[in-house]
Amino acid sequence: MSRTHPRPLSFIGAQVADAVRDARKRWRATSWTWCALVVVVALVPVVDGNALQISSLAAGLYIVLAAVGLNFAVGLAGIPSLGQGGFVGIGAFVAAWLAVRWGWDLVAATAAGTAAAAVTGFVVGAGAARLTRVYVAITTWVVAWMLQFALADFPQISGGSQGLPLPPARLGILGAVARFTPVWHYESALLFVVIALVAYAAVKKTPAGLHLTALRQSEAAALVLGADRAKLRTGAIVASAAIGGLAGALAVQLAGIADPTTYGPLLSVKLFVAVIIGGAAFTAGPVVGAATLALVGPAAHGLGHLAGIEPARFEPLVAAALLLVALVAGGQGILPRLRSLSVRGKTRAASSGAPRISVSTAIEVRPGPTVLDARSVAKSFGGLRALDGVDISVRAGSVHAVIGPNGSGKSTLLKILSGSIRPDAGSVHVDGRAVEISSVASLRELGIVRTLQRTAVFEDMSLRDHVLAGSVTARPVAGTARHLIGTPQARADEAAARVDAERVLSDVGLLDAVETPARYLSGAQQRFLMIAMALAAHPRAVLLDEPGAGMSSDHVASLIDLIGAIASRGVAVVLVEHNLRLVRSTADEVTVLSSGHVIANGDPDEISASDEVRRAYIGPTSF
Ligand code: ADP
Ligand code: MG
Repeated sequence: MSRTHPRPLSFIGAQVADAVRDARKRWRATSWTWCALVVVVALVPVVDGNALQISSLAAGLYIVLAAVGLNFAVGLAGIPSLGQGGFVGIGAFVAAWLAVRWGWDLVAATAAGTAAAAVTGFVVGAGAARLTRVYVAITTWVVAWMLQFALADFPQISGGSQGLPLPPARLGILGAVARFTPVWHYESALLFVVIALVAYAAVKKTPAGLHLTALRQSEAAALVLGADRAKLRTGAIVASAAIGGLAGALAVQLAGIADPTTYGPLLSVKLFVAVIIGGAAFTAGPVVGAATLALVGPAAHGLGHLAGIEPARFEPLVAAALLLVALVAGGQGILPRLRSLSVRGKTRAASSGAPRISVSTAIEVRPGPTVLDARSVAKSFGGLRALDGVDISVRAGSVHAVIGPNGSGKSTLLKILSGSIRPDAGSVHVDGRAVEISSVASLRELGIVRTLQRTAVFEDMSLRDHVLAGSVTARPVAGTARHLIGTPQARADEAAARVDAERVLSDVGLLDAVETPARYLSGAQQRFLMIAMALAAHPRAVLLDEPGAGMSSDHVASLIDLIGAIASRGVAVVLVEHNLRLVRSTADEVTVLSSGHVIANGDPDEISASDEVRRAYIGPTSF
C-alpha cells in the first residue's frame, strides 16, 4: 500500500521521532551494558597496535560472526545444522577464487561468496526443511564433508595441501586503491557481528520469527496457527548460510590464503559447540560460546603440550568435551543458566482461579447464515474409514456441538474443516463457496480456525507472543524485511496487533499474565490460551476440540460463558466435547457421529430424547 503524504518531510520527521521514542522506551540497562562492551571491543586496536594480534582477533570475530549466523538455524528455528563450516568454506573459496582468477576486489568477491553460500543454503534448506531433526543434522554434516572432499579433489581451486594464496585485497574507487589492514578487518568484523545480533533480535519479533519460535516449541500447535514450516525453515537456513558465507569470504581475505583444512567439518563442530555452550535460546549465546572456546583454546594448547599431543589436534577434543558437559547439564548453555539463577522465583504465575469472562458488544441476530459446511466428506486411514459421507452445516452466531464416542471421527472432521488434512471425497465450503486451496493458512485467512484436542502451548513464549503468533495470518501482509526496517506500515500493523492481543487475552481472562511464559499457567489456563490464539485470527468460525478436557467445574463454567460470548459476537462455534453439561448449556444444534457416520442431528432436546443416540453413545442415563 503506497500513500503520498502532503508534507513528506514532516511526515518522515514524525516517523523518526516515533522510532526514537520507541527505541528509548525499550532501551534498558542491558542495552547500555552491551553498548559499552562494543565500544570497549572497538577500541582494542587503539590500545594494542600489534598487527599480528589484531589480525588474529579479527579472525576470531569472523568465527563469532559465523556462529551468530548459525544461531538463525539452531536457536531461532531449532534446526541442528552441522554444516556451518561448509557454508563458511563456500564463501571463502568462492571469494578467494574470484580474487585470484579474475582479480575481483574485496567488495565484489565478498558479495559473490556470500551469495554462493546463500544459494547453497537454499538448496540444502529446501531439501532438509521437511526432515526430522536427526536427519537434518546428518544431511548438513554430509554437506560439510562433501565440500571437504570436493576441495581435496580439485587442487586447482583449493590450492591443494599448500592452500591458495590470495593477492592483497584491494578496492579500486575512481583510480584510488584502498588497502585493507588488519584493523579494518577487525572493525568491520565487529560491525557485522553487531548487525547480525541486532537482526537476530529483531527477526525474533517479526511474524516469521514468532512462527519459527512457535514451531520450535510445539510443532503441532504452530501448524494449527498456519505456520509454513518448509518456507520458514528454509529461510532460517539461508540466513545462517549467508552470514556464514560472509564471514568466510572476509576471513579468507584477511588470512591471505585459502586453506581447505580451515573450513570443513571441524569448523562446523566448533561453531555448533559455540552456539550450544553459549545458549542457543539467547541472542548473545553464540558470542559467549565462541568467546569461551577462544579462552579454552590456549588452555587446551597447554594441556596438549603436557600430554605431548599436537595442540591443534587437542582443541576439538576439548570443544567436544565442553559440548558434552553442556548437554549433560541440561543442554541450555551458559547464558540461560545465568538467567535462570538470577530470575528464579521472580516470575509470578498467573492467578489460577477460573477466569471471569466479560461479554462485550453482542450481536443480535442469532443464528445467522451458514458460514461453514462440509458436504459428503469421507476420509480413510489405511483400511479404516474414519469419516464416511458426513454433512455438517455451521451457522454464524451459533454453537454447533459434535458429539460421539471416541474414535467416531470428530477430530478428523475438525481437521478437514480447518484445512489440516484433505478429505478423500466431498468438499468444504465457506460462505457457500467450495474451498480451493485447502491449507491451514488459507483457511485461517478465510476465518476458519481450530484448537487442538490435546493441550499444546509454547512453553517459553509470553502470552502476548502466543496471541501475536495466532494473529499472523489475519494481519495485513508486511514481509519480514519490512518489519526489520520498521516501515510505517509494518509499525502500524505491529502496534495494532499488540492492542488486539491484549483485547483477546482480556476476553479469555488472562490479561494479568500477558508477559508470563506459558509454562507457568495451569493446564486449564493453557486451554484458555489455546482459544485466545484461535480468536486472535479474527475468526468467523472457531472449531474447538474438547476445550473442557480436564477442567474443574469452575473453569467449565467460565468456558461456558466464553463460548456464549464468542457466539454472541456472530462467530460460528463448532464444539467437540464429552462434557455433556458444557454441550447442554451452550449448543444450539448437535450432530452425533458414530463410526464416521452422522447418526443424528438436531437441537439438544431432540438429541437427548433420541433412542438411537442413547444406544450409540450416551447410554441409558439422560444428558
Ligand atoms: P475422535 O476425535 O472422534 O475420537 P478421530 O477423528 O481422532 O476420533 O479418529 C477417528 C478414527 O481415525 C480413529 O479410529 C483413529 O484411530 C483414526 N485415526 C485418526 N487419525 C489417524 C491417523 N493420522 N492415522 C491413522 N488413523 C487415524
Ligand atoms: Mg478427538
